[in-house]
Amino acid sequence: MSGSQQGATVRSIQEIASFHAHVYYDPATSRAQAERLRDWIGERFAVTLGRWHDEKVGPHDQAMFQVAFASELFAELVPWLMLNHGSLSILVHPNTTDPRRDHLADALWIGPLLALHGDKLPGQGEAQPAPAPNTEPTLRP
Ligand code: ZN
Repeated sequence: MSGSQQGATVRSIQEIASFHAHVYYDPATSRAQAERLRDWIGERFAVTLGRWHDEKVGPHDQAMFQVAFASELFAELVPWLMLNHGSLSILVHPNTTDPRRDHLADALWIGPLLALHGDKLPGQGEAQPAPAPNTEPTLRP
């Protein structure tokens, strides 16, 4: 975070193994909207839809489900989410080898920003290998 060369190194998009979109909802008021959006995504895009997390999990401060997708889908899926997220908040982040930086520093938000708990994420040096891109649609007819 505070290396002497910070700002001097151009990072390559080759660092990005895949992307996640985390779709947040309130189990009491907006789960139905989230279910509809999830169905729409699954019908249209070759993504991997994660499990429902009605309880907060990891760095996330609200219930959410994850959408994992390959970099090649970004230009199609992310603008579509911008137009179709309704009132839901969505966090889109790259998957490199530094999950904390991916979520906290290098992400983008669609809809209202929500809190993230960075202390629950591994940082540089303790990172897991970036996950393989997920390209299998699970709801596509
Ligand atoms: Zn994620």
